[in-house]
Amino acid sequence: MFADEAKINIKAGDGGNGIVAFRREKYVPRGGPAGGNGGKGGDVYLVGSPRHNTLYHFTRKVHFKAERGKHGSGSNKQGAGGADLEVPVAPGTVVYDDESGLALGELLEVEDRLLVASGGRGGRGNAVFRSATHQTPQFAEKGEPGVERWLRLELKLIADIGIIGVPNAGKSTLLSVVTRARPKIADYPFTTLEPNLGVALVDYRDVVLADIPGLIEGAHTGVGLGLAFLRHIERTRLLIHVLDGLSPDPIGDYEAINQELTLFKPHLADKAQIVAFNKMDVPEVRERWPEIQTTLADKSVQAIAMSAVTGENVQALLAQAVGLLDTLPTPEGLQIVPVLTAVDEDVFTIEREPEGWIVRGKRIERAAAMTNWDYYEAILRFQRIMEAMGIAQALQQAGIKEGDTVFIGEIDLNWSDDYYFGE
Ligand code: GDP
Ligand code: MG
Repeated sequence: MFADEAKINIKAGDGGNGIVAFRREKYVPRGGPAGGNGGKGGDVYLVGSPRHNTLYHFTRKVHFKAERGKHGSGSNKQGAGGADLEVPVAPGTVVYDDESGLALGELLEVEDRLLVASGGRGGRGNAVFRSATHQTPQFAEKGEPGVERWLRLELKLIADIGIIGVPNAGKSTLLSVVTRARPKIADYPFTTLEPNLGVALVDYRDVVLADIPGLIEGAHTGVGLGLAFLRHIERTRLLIHVLDGLSPDPIGDYEAINQELTLFKPHLADKAQIVAFNKMDVPEVRERWPEIQTTLADKSVQAIAMSAVTGENVQALLAQAVGLLDTLPTPEGLQIVPVLTAVDEDVFTIEREPEGWIVRGKRIERAAAMTNWDYYEAILRFQRIMEAMGIAQALQQAGIKEGDTVFIGEIDLNWSDDYYFGE
């Protein structure tokens, strides 16, 4: 099975918690605050891997999680950062945020790295909160949660040369004789459902070829199997267009395939092509070649006649292809939309539900997650944030009552008027 699309869930490490601690010193009844900060959570990266050609490995494992930061400790000791996680993907993988659909980037080469989720920062220990008026703060922050998101991965083959043509033209056969790949070969159309990659050694260098099946009329509209495969052609630099010598109308086939390319992406039709008229080992095919050659020449198309089965002209075709490759520019990267669209972190919404009030917003949810509810002072600090952001006032205006429940992220709070404005 060829997996050229995958959906994975990634979670960066949470930050470690800051802690409340005080210095112990000889002859000093109680030293200053010395609670250390938590460590940063690990980031998640996607990395171009030399061992992967497909996204197939993601059918077995979907969830990936980086290590969390260690908690702080006494004597102002910072917790250790969580280890980053590297998730291997095949070179040629384009990465999208599944929810927004935005392209986050692509991994073209082995060892390319793309940061896809940042670890949470460590919570601050009580030492940080010491001030002139507040010598012994009794609270600390929890670590910030690491980013979690679903990614959609899409693999674009990075072959130098794509082999295209109608079903049965001999694409798979050609690939199998020039490379060590072993594609399925059959007499009837549509058996080869997956693009096969092969590496040919030409003049001591590697050339990657892809057999790209599924080019049938109507493929650009998504009918049949064509659309997924057409995508793979985008990255190739050169196309070998194989004509079926036994077809009733090889020239018509040639026009139809090119029509498909134009309809899918106009620029694909501009890609350099070498036309190979196949099955010359069959006498009738050899007989019609001069006529076909003339018709193509009238269209200014230079073609080469070959037999994939006997190997006639196959090396000449490869040599010609590689020679042409050297004159072509290397492919450009995709246009990538910047990852960070400005999200206004301070925006919040309030919803009235039968069970209580739901407050949503990036900043307030993060503050709630980072508050350590075991410490009274931390709770006071959270209340000040609620007020500073105008959320407490908005709730009151909306008619919140003593004893109502307020849900913020994963936290639920009991509303008390005194509690919030009880100076
Ligand atoms: P694809 O659909 O383009 O991948 O075509 P295949 O490589 O699967 O070939 C289709 C059929 O044509 C198979 O039966 C092959 O054996 C046959 N074929 C391919 N190349 C040649 C050739 O050079 N000569 C002859 N006689 N048959 C060929
Ligand atoms: Mg095939």
